[in-house]
Amino acid sequence: MPKIKIPSSISIGAHSFRIRYHSSDSLKDDGLDGVINHRTQVIEINSSRSPSQQMEAFIHETLHGINATYAKSDLSEHQIGHIAEGLAQVFKELGIELDWGCFAEKAKK
Ligand SMILES: [Zn+2]
Repeated sequence: MPKIKIPSSISIGAHSFRIRYHSSDSLKDDGLDGVINHRTQVIEINSSRSPSQQMEAFIHETLHGINATYAKSDLSEHQIGHIAEGLAQVFKELGIELDWGCFAEKAKK
């Protein structure tokens, strides 16, 4: 199974987004799988979700960043949801998994 190592930050356009992988209250209280904050340039993924949900959430939040940077936010929430689910399915069928190893310490909290 090919595993993609998720780094501590990714670039979208000229912008660097820090990635946070955790299950703390900020995500739990809202029942979120993930969230992107365009102002603070942070993408958060809920580490308590299943691997397939984390994959979908990572693609989903990244698409929000791409949408805002390259498409003037033309894509709706629903469109982003459909594309992210479709891409997550393709990645799964290709046997691609995400490796959150560099966040291991934080995920245990
Ligand atoms: Zn969304």
